[in-house]
Amino acid sequence: MSNKASLFSNDHLLSLLRGEDDDLLFGLADEIRKKEFGNEVYIRGILEFSNHCNKNCLYCGLRVSNRSIRRYRMTEDEILACVELLAAEQVGTVVLQSGDDFNYSGACIGRIVDEVKKRHDIALTLSLGDRNLSDYSYWRKYGADRCLVKIETSSPTEYNRFRSGETFASRLERVKELKEMGYETGSGVIIGLPGSGVRRTLQDLMFLTELKLDMIAVGPFIPHPDTPLGDEGPGGVDLSLRSSALLRILNPEANIPATSALDALSPGTRIKALGKGCNVVMPSVTPEKLRDSYFIYPGKNCSETTVPAFLDKIRQDIAKAGFTPSPSKGYSHRRKNV
Ligand code: SAM
Ligand code: SF4
Repeated sequence: MSNKASLFSNDHLLSLLRGEDDDLLFGLADEIRKKEFGNEVYIRGILEFSNHCNKNCLYCGLRVSNRSIRRYRMTEDEILACVELLAAEQVGTVVLQSGDDFNYSGACIGRIVDEVKKRHDIALTLSLGDRNLSDYSYWRKYGADRCLVKIETSSPTEYNRFRSGETFASRLERVKELKEMGYETGSGVIIGLPGSGVRRTLQDLMFLTELKLDMIAVGPFIPHPDTPLGDEGPGGVDLSLRSSALLRILNPEANIPATSALDALSPGTRIKALGKGCNVVMPSVTPEKLRDSYFIYPGKNCSETTVPAFLDKIRQDIAKAGFTPSPSKGYSHRRKNV
């Protein structure tokens, strides 16, 4: 924990999350981000290559029971062509994300990782969910750099209520094992899942901090009409912004994205989050014709422009906000002295 954060009592941290001193919270988060990362904002292009999923998480539009979604899978060649475009666009990281889709075997993902790392000077993040640890180990050998596995909540009871398949304990164990394998490891929570409040959010943030992660992603819950949580209220945009600011104070060296869920609830907020402690943006770089089928929640992937035009727009927005869009791979600062 940073020295500055240890000056705050639990009650003070709660009051900051409730918005009782946003100037202090956001000012300190911005100061710490600037000291660690200067003006640079890292861009991680997310390629959402399949929206098939064998799980049934109550909050997610990709859940297997949702019959109203048009499912797709990209081929290996299509995935590699997209990564080539990103490398040509000088995007430093590609994130391969999908539902938990075992149609892609361990060997198939291994081939994709191998080809990407052989062909391009680009960092590679995997966000593939609960795949076998032996597969993750195999992909690491082919050069995959990072993994993103969100725990979604620090409450085992809530986890087991909202997600199917793995238990909270094994999801957590997975995060720890991935770190052991040498992956730069990211995790995070959804802010404002039904029934949670500010106290639970603080517990979540402290829990994530104890995991000593390379990357921490928090974004608001967005109800999806075709899920069992469709009638619930959304998570708070302000609470999400305050949560990532507090995470910055607690984890000065972590990469913290300004999540796209912020923009889905309140357009323009993702860029504003860069001035409140965040240092990464993760635009979808899924081909236009598939982008709106990766329908996790309403408001996701609204842009209909081509990938290069979309990247241009994001870079312009970052620059207009006074930051420098960086072509860097943005490796973890936690590991810089390791
Ligand atoms: N299947 C993989 C997994 O679950 O780890 C990766 C894909 S999953 C769609 C990526 C993330 O979407 C999840 O970690 C979850 O936090 C987020 N997500 C899904 N539904 C959401 C919703 N309704 N509101 C906010 N975030 C959501
Ligand atoms: Fe599948 Fe991930 Fe959505 Fe859960 S959150 S239904 S595992 S895509």
